[in-house]
Amino acid sequence: MPFVFTPPVQAAVPIVGQTQQFPVHRVYCVGRNYAEHAKEMGFTGREAPFFFLKPADAVLTADQGNETIFMPFPSMTSNLHHEIELVVAIGKGGRNITAAQAFEHIWGYAVGLDMTRRDLQNEMKKQGRPWCIGKAFEHSAPISAITPAEQAGDIENAAIWLQVNGQDRQRSHTHQLIWNIAETIEHLSQAWELQPGDLIMTGTPEGVGAVQVGDVLEGGIDGLSTLRVQMTD
Ligand code: MN
Repeated sequence: MPFVFTPPVQAAVPIVGQTQQFPVHRVYCVGRNYAEHAKEMGFTGREAPFFFLKPADAVLTADQGNETIFMPFPSMTSNLHHEIELVVAIGKGGRNITAAQAFEHIWGYAVGLDMTRRDLQNEMKKQGRPWCIGKAFEHSAPISAITPAEQAGDIENAAIWLQVNGQDRQRSHTHQLIWNIAETIEHLSQAWELQPGDLIMTGTPEGVGAVQVGDVLEGGIDGLSTLRVQMTD
């Protein structure tokens, strides 16, 4: 049956060294998954992992032939925060995946930014309302090209960092994750049936802060393609 209008373009992420792309199904995000970031947000202690989502079309990638991703500064915020995160790309779906099986479901890894309208998120938190307006807006998930898992090196022992205009803002290590990659997949797949094409943003380390129009954000994780984002108006 024909559609009443042209369906949207499939969200996708480029793959390092390949012309094929990774089609995106959903973008899951883990909240407060590094202890020092949980502290800076006013929380302490290990809590069960919790999740929120961004729509697939929040994914923002570089145009072909361009290394820089251009992110339009979003509406309604005067406190747009960067959160650098390890992104896990799921290649094989499933529900109730155990931590021991989790790595069989991973296609690859990327560097991502969970861009956050912090002022709007804080207002929603205060009122006990959903975070969507703070987290799930368009272009809120700039993501680097995906590196296939077998080429990504020791991703659980990798430095993770973000610079804004050449200055260090966030610097940590993936072994600092409160819920590691396998445990995150175990918990997530109990609540949702994972599908090929799902992306999991695994949480940000400490040092989140605001960016302005014109700022250049450069983020990396050992073994993965560097992410470069310029804020535009
Ligand atoms: Mn985040």
